[in-house]
Amino acid sequence: MDDLLVVGGGASGMMAALRAAECGARVRLLERNEKLGKKIYITGKGRCNMTNDCTLEEFLREVPRNPRFLYSALAELSPQALMERMEAMGCPVQVQRGRRVFPASEKASDVTLALSRRLRALHVGIELNTRVSGILTEKDRVCGCTTEDGRTFSCRALILATGGLSAPLTGSTGDGYRLARETGHEVTPLRPSLTGICTVETWPSMAQGLSLKNVRLSAPGGKKFLFDQRGEMLLTHYGISGPLVLELTSHLPDSGEMPEIHLCLKPAVEEAELDARMVKDLSASPGRSVQRILEGYMPHSLARIFPEICGVRPEDTGAQINRESRKKLVRGLKDLTLHIRSLRPMDEAVITRGGVVVRQVDPGTMESRLLPGLFFAGELLDVDAHTGGYNLQIAFATGALAGRRAAEYCLREETV
Ligand SMILES: Cc1cc2nc3c(=O)[nH]c(=O)nc-3n(C[C@H](O)[C@H](O)[C@H](O)COP(=O)(O)OP(=O)(O)OC[C@H]3O[C@@H](n4cnc5c(N)ncnc54)[C@H](O)[C@@H]3O)c2cc1C
Repeated sequence: MDDLLVVGGGASGMMAALRAAECGARVRLLERNEKLGKKIYITGKGRCNMTNDCTLEEFLREVPRNPRFLYSALAELSPQALMERMEAMGCPVQVQRGRRVFPASEKASDVTLALSRRLRALHVGIELNTRVSGILTEKDRVCGCTTEDGRTFSCRALILATGGLSAPLTGSTGDGYRLARETGHEVTPLRPSLTGICTVETWPSMAQGLSLKNVRLSAPGGKKFLFDQRGEMLLTHYGISGPLVLELTSHLPDSGEMPEIHLCLKPAVEEAELDARMVKDLSASPGRSVQRILEGYMPHSLARIFPEICGVRPEDTGAQINRESRKKLVRGLKDLTLHIRSLRPMDEAVITRGGVVVRQVDPGTMESRLLPGLFFAGELLDVDAHTGGYNLQIAFATGALAGRRAAEYCLREETV
């Protein structure tokens, strides 16, 4: 019998397994894929933004969902401790813009390699191509698991680290939610987060592929804004995407009416100033089409469709644009309203919103409050964060805490 089974060889599971082995437990890691850490390879566009070199307070501000649940996990493995650990495991790191931390090589594969090396050095048993299908209990405690191909593994404790539903080709198809439910746990509604938005308006598709830099995106929410940030976004065949939009989706309500989105193409210039500039430009080019004049304000592919978006005839020349049309164009530069039709599907999302309810999990140990010997880690839990390395840090930190505490649990059980 193994002391501890870790189900899922992603970021959280690998960290959990190596931490438990360091604490003296006999550990076996069960992974359904033919290799470990498949999702890590695609993180950060293949560069793996593994954490963010920020303080605890700053970190928690980037976690819109259940931040306080993470205090103990981040105390167990802070971003700085993770960076030191990665370096010690032979994966030097570098801090880039926004304090995002990457492997110095900028190769995500180096992160998986370092973790796998450490697992081997600690003699963790690794079972690849092994998909866990059920959790076994005896006398109201975890005692093992079954696999899809009919095998049974026994243990004193088990860590579920099967990830969420996003990027299912990497192995995270939501098995953990079913396993959690089957052992009596609640799972909050699941939805994609950090993903693109399909808009009711079709004009973004007419300029698809266009990246808009230094724009402001906001969404009202009661008296204040749900979201109000400047940055970069992308127009696509379905609507909008890119860093600003991904970030916005993690602020959207989980149910009920979706807010309008307001896009400001010129956040640094006041409306009156823009109007004065437009008056000058229109009178300087009386014979030019308004589309050409607008190229001084935005990229060609957007200028081409912008008059129509604002309700202005595109064939009008500078001289033909009256006060009312000019005001419409200036208003459009400051505020284009977009409506959310839907979020892009889960398989395109960076992260799953929702998961195992955190009140059924002890935040100090990651152990289930319902079933002794069962621990949780990673995206499977109802915690998620913004982009910037925070989600992998959550996976590593909850994994480290679950690993140590599960090892302690096993040693206690052994002596009973
Ligand atoms: C395209 C993309 C880019 C991203 N980039 C970043 C980034 O740069 N920085 C960042 O912080 N976050 C990023 N994320 C999010 C980050 O990848 C996740 O937060 C993190 O991988 C979650 O780790 P996890 O261990 O919980 O789950 P996963 O990494 O999904 O690991 C779960 C593992 O469990 C295995 N598994 C599932 N079911 C079973 C079963 N029944 N039996 C056995 N094994 C099973 C899976 O095969 C998988 O290997 C990105 C996500 C995506 C999709």
